[in-house]
Amino acid sequence: MELATKSKITWCPGCPNATILVAYRKAITELVTEGKLKIENLVSAAGIGCHGKITDYLNTNTFEALHGRAVSSATGIKLGNKDLEVVVFTGDGDSFSEGFSHLAHAAKRNVGISVFLHNNETFALTTGQATFLSPTGFKGPSTPGGDPDEPMNPLLIMLAMGATFVARTYALDIEGTKRIMKDAMSHKGFAFVEIIQPCITFFDTREHYKNIIEWLPVDFPRNDLGKAIEKVREIGEKVPVGIFYQVQKPTFEDKI
Ligand code: SF4
Repeated sequence: MELATKSKITWCPGCPNATILVAYRKAITELVTEGKLKIENLVSAAGIGCHGKITDYLNTNTFEALHGRAVSSATGIKLGNKDLEVVVFTGDGDSFSEGFSHLAHAAKRNVGISVFLHNNETFALTTGQATFLSPTGFKGPSTPGGDPDEPMNPLLIMLAMGATFVARTYALDIEGTKRIMKDAMSHKGFAFVEIIQPCITFFDTREHYKNIIEWLPVDFPRNDLGKAIEKVREIGEKVPVGIFYQVQKPTFEDKI
C-alpha cells in the first residue's frame, strides 16, 4: 500500500506537520494490516492553513474544504455513507477562529468522524497572526503589542459540547500520536484530538514543550467527565497528554 503521493512537500523544513503526516500514515497502515480499516473506505479531509497541505501528500480519498468548513463537509460525507471512515485535519485558525460553530455542532451531535487539530497556536499560513488559541501576550503581525486575551482551551470546549472521545498528543512524539490516532479512528462517535504542533517559523514552542509533556497514567479513568474536565485544565509546569475521555453514545448518523 503506497500512501505517499508525488506532490513535493512544501512545509518549512523540519515543520512538525510532517511528523503528523508520518504518524497518520503509520496509523492507517497498522489499521489496514489489522483488518480494522479498508483503505477504499477512508476519507481524509482538511481545511485551510498549513495543516491543509496534508491532503496533497496522502494517497487516500481526500477532500479539501473552504476555510473553517472541513468539519461540516466531513459531516456531509459521513451522512452520505456511514460506512466511510472520515478523518478531518484542521488548524486552530481553521476550526476555532473560523469554523467553530460547525465543530461545536458535530461534537454535540456525536457525528462519527475523527477530528485532528494541528494546534500551532497561530495563523501560520498567513505569517503568524493570533488565533483564539494563542497564549496571552502572543506577539504577531495582528498583535504587535502582545495579545491581551486568554486562550480558549480546545479540549475543555469539546468536553462541554459533548464529544465522546477527547485526547491530546504532541506532534514530535510520532509513536504516541500514531497510537492516539488509531484509538480515535476506532472510536464509534465524535473523536477529537488536539495535536500540539509547534510552528518552527512563526511560533517555535519546541523548547517550551520539550520537557513538560507528560502522558496520563495507564489507569486514568476515561469515563469520568468531571476528572476529564479537571485534567485538561492542568496546563502549566506539565502538559498532560493521552485519552482524557471516552464513552459510547448513539451517533448522529445512526439516529437519523
Ligand atoms: Fe510549519 Fe509554521 Fe512553516 Fe507552516 S509556517 S509549514 S506551520 S513551520
